Amino acid sequence: MIITKQKELQDILEALKGQTKVFIVGCGECSATCKTGGEEEVKKMKGVLEHAGKKVTGYCVPSAPCIAAKVKLDFAKNRKAIEASDAVLVLACGLGIQSVNENLRSDKPVHVGCDTLFMGQVGADNALLERCAACGNCVLEFTGMICPVARCPKGLLNGPCGGQDKGKCEIDRDKDCAWILIYNNLKKKNKLHLLKRIKPPIDHSKSLRPRRITLS
Ligand code: SF4
Ligand code: SF4
Repeated sequence: MIITKQKELQDILEALKGQTKVFIVGCGECSATCKTGGEEEVKKMKGVLEHAGKKVTGYCVPSAPCIAAKVKLDFAKNRKAIEASDAVLVLACGLGIQSVNENLRSDKPVHVGCDTLFMGQVGADNALLERCAACGNCVLEFTGMICPVARCPKGLLNGPCGGQDKGKCEIDRDKDCAWILIYNNLKKKNKLHLLKRIKPPIDHSKSLRPRRITLS
């Protein structure tokens, strides 16, 4: 899941300065889970924009499998409302925002309503937790299914560092040391021998941007 956070309202209003009629695009998947761009948040944004003197011409909340795949269909259904607007505000991740821009088939300005933070999952206490940094060299096979790239602040592929104390990370004592979690998971699975396997540095050539894969 892609984790997002809504931008400050004053930043959104600043971006919409001079544009009165706004169409809002949300996302019924990741942004809905993050409570940044689901139906509820889109309706709330509609109320806020109207309170600020804007006219909301309409909204859509594309969902499964992803806003990037569904947005064309939702735009076709809302063509008139989009044509009647001065701008489009998107409450979704960076991928969703770019998909909206590419599929809008118009020069209307598209505005960014959310900051995209990381790839993660929902924790037991409803916290959104970073779990993968898309490094292109997955080592989960050898790390007890705990990602050291995303969960160790130093991104150490061979840990722990000397700073861990009673299982907590030296960078943030409230957080578990990723490498102690890795040790515990490997021990549970009887795979401690994997710790002896020295992992080579990340091959950054695999993540040269922009990345592209051609499907056969
Ligand atoms: S090692 Fe971590 S960051 Fe890299 S692909 Fe695997 S889960 Fe993602
Ligand atoms: S204490 Fe653990 S999680 Fe923190 S930086 Fe060191 S190895 Fe990484």
